[in-house]
Amino acid sequence: MSKLSLRMKAQENSKRPCDVYGCPARRKNISRYCVAHYSNLANTGHLEGRLIPRSTIKPLQKSALDYINAHLDHPLITKALDHIQLQIIDKGKAPNPPYLKPRTLPQIIEAKTYAELRRLQIPSPIVKGCGINGGSMITERPAPVSAAEVLAVCTGVWLATKLNQRLLKDDGDSMTWALANGVLGLRMYRQVTAWSKEGRDNQTREPGAHARRTVGTTVRPLSYVFQAIAEKIAPYIVETPEQALARQADERRPLPDADVPLYVPPAPSARVIPLLPPRYARPQHDPHAIEVWSRLDALWTKAGM
Ligand SMILES: [Zn+2]
Repeated sequence: MSKLSLRMKAQENSKRPCDVYGCPARRKNISRYCVAHYSNLANTGHLEGRLIPRSTIKPLQKSALDYINAHLDHPLITKALDHIQLQIIDKGKAPNPPYLKPRTLPQIIEAKTYAELRRLQIPSPIVKGCGINGGSMITERPAPVSAAEVLAVCTGVWLATKLNQRLLKDDGDSMTWALANGVLGLRMYRQVTAWSKEGRDNQTREPGAHARRTVGTTVRPLSYVFQAIAEKIAPYIVETPEQALARQADERRPLPDADVPLYVPPAPSARVIPLLPPRYARPQHDPHAIEVWSRLDALWTKAGM
């Protein structure tokens, strides 16, 4: 299989079963996996991953955005917004792609990431009427994505995964991809129109795995901020189920306040009577016992015993 063309390699490869244990489907093109597992890995960062629905994130994202807008002067939020502005917003505002012809893989990744970030800054208008000339009209012109919006959607994703931990397969790539999917899903994906055998064909270009990973690792270091905001808008997410039950029980029947006994200092007495042992005979041999006895003897004599 050394000198085969890519097409023949793909032909050979697609006869073999998917590399995931127990999956009976054939491989996709030159990939190790079948179509389903390949797209799972590319879209969610995990072979068995599922995308988090927008409807799960949206309400959380909205309350996070309200909180962020009310606390714009907080140093933690200011820092996070600065980071996002520099890494996500400003990079998408650059009018030209970074390379005329990206050649190496790092250059290709940079160019693909730029294309996605650019899409967030010049979102295409929502058109009604299948895009036919003269027969369609623009119904909405979405605003460019702002830094606060990015922070809010990341907090929404973070909070959703804390509230329902089954949304993610692991805390590594799955979390990185989930954050990236939240950011990249803020505006419509790139649309391309091409002529196919059936005629005019509109296609959606989803962000690639490289772009998702890059965006995810860019926002991931802010997870401390996501957690801090999440704890403010949903204060009980850090509790274990047992702690939640105990708190609810306490709220239903609050414990009585502990009775602290009032400390009364003893009244000063005029004469302090030392507590002395009864007088005993002087010991004979032990020097330590004799020394103790003579000290006591002085006290006995003073007390008149
Ligand atoms: Zn498979």
